[in-house]
Amino acid sequence: MPEKLSPRAILEKLVSIPTVSRDSNLPLIEWVETYLNSHGITAHRHYDETNEKAALFAHVGPVTEGAVVLSGHTDVVPVDGQPWGTNPFEVVEKDGKLYGRGTCDMKGFDALAIWTLIEGHYADLKRPLQLALSYDEEIGCLGAPPMIEAMQPIVTKASAVIVGEPSMMQAVSGHKGGFGYHVHMQGFEVHSSILHTGVNAILYGAKIIEWVNQMNSESMAKEPGEVAAKFDPPFTTVHVGTIKGGTAHNITAKDCWFGVDFRVVPGDDAEDWRDLFLAKVDEVEAEMQAVVPETKIVLEERFQLPGLVPEENGEAEAIVRRLTGDNGSHVVSYGTEGGQFQEAGYSAVICGPGDIAQAHQPNEYLTVAQFDAGKAFMERLLVMLKG
Ligand SMILES: [Zn+2]
Repeated sequence: MPEKLSPRAILEKLVSIPTVSRDSNLPLIEWVETYLNSHGITAHRHYDETNEKAALFAHVGPVTEGAVVLSGHTDVVPVDGQPWGTNPFEVVEKDGKLYGRGTCDMKGFDALAIWTLIEGHYADLKRPLQLALSYDEEIGCLGAPPMIEAMQPIVTKASAVIVGEPSMMQAVSGHKGGFGYHVHMQGFEVHSSILHTGVNAILYGAKIIEWVNQMNSESMAKEPGEVAAKFDPPFTTVHVGTIKGGTAHNITAKDCWFGVDFRVVPGDDAEDWRDLFLAKVDEVEAEMQAVVPETKIVLEERFQLPGLVPEENGEAEAIVRRLTGDNGSHVVSYGTEGGQFQEAGYSAVICGPGDIAQAHQPNEYLTVAQFDAGKAFMERLLVMLKG
């Protein structure tokens, strides 16, 4: 039999390949694929349009329905400007902690998932097991949707997806979704003494921003629905985080740029929020054009991520509850690829080792205890799949 690596050895290998989102992840994909192939497992790549990144997925066990997918992303956030006490691209163990970029988010889970796939390949599984490794998660969850689409005709459609984002091995069944726009108000410059003949991009932009304030006040005043009530805050929020515009105090601003982000609580329809926003933009644009017809508002969508909606009797959550003994109800405020699997018709849950508080930080770490808890979870999963 070819060499079988421990989860720790796999983690060390994965961390040593710095797959920061802006760079190619192919060296990591290459290594994982070669390792799986050496054990006789076929893996499938799905490239992005640049051919510099790829997702990788594989299936072991019987070719039947009922598979469980272990889903992770391969990319990590940059370390630029962060004060690290150790080499971020090397796993360094100190005081029960495994330091290194991605140990927590989320190469620790990836390593466990790869280990489990190899174990599953040699076990007599009654239910199949699948591995799905994506790219570009950290820059807006861009890589999972094409991977999910590519998987469906090649491996049997799974009945449960476990997304291993750090959750301290608890079953997390919901998170908010979101979308965001860059807004570019294109006004008309005149001397501010005759401002009625110009279109001040800042003042018209302020109308949209005041609408944002109104929406938040109205949402805050409303009684939350049953699903929304689990979240903090229990409503959809709209936010403007950046703004710039104008050139001088006595010129009506020709340009104003700002960003509008929506965090949509499960239970609300993101498309309804989008429609409300676009209607407001149309209204303000019509007012601008009534003064100077060639003025306009240009929108650029920045990201769009579906929320993870707590499922009623969801298979994925049931599996994780059974394997962890966790019966609490947990939702989180960070977005994941779980909502994208769910949108494609899969039952999905989040469960992975580590604390999200350590993700993206300098001196990111995963405790040995959490890594061990993750391995114990995978061993129980294998027992379950052996039926
Ligand atoms: Zn992550």
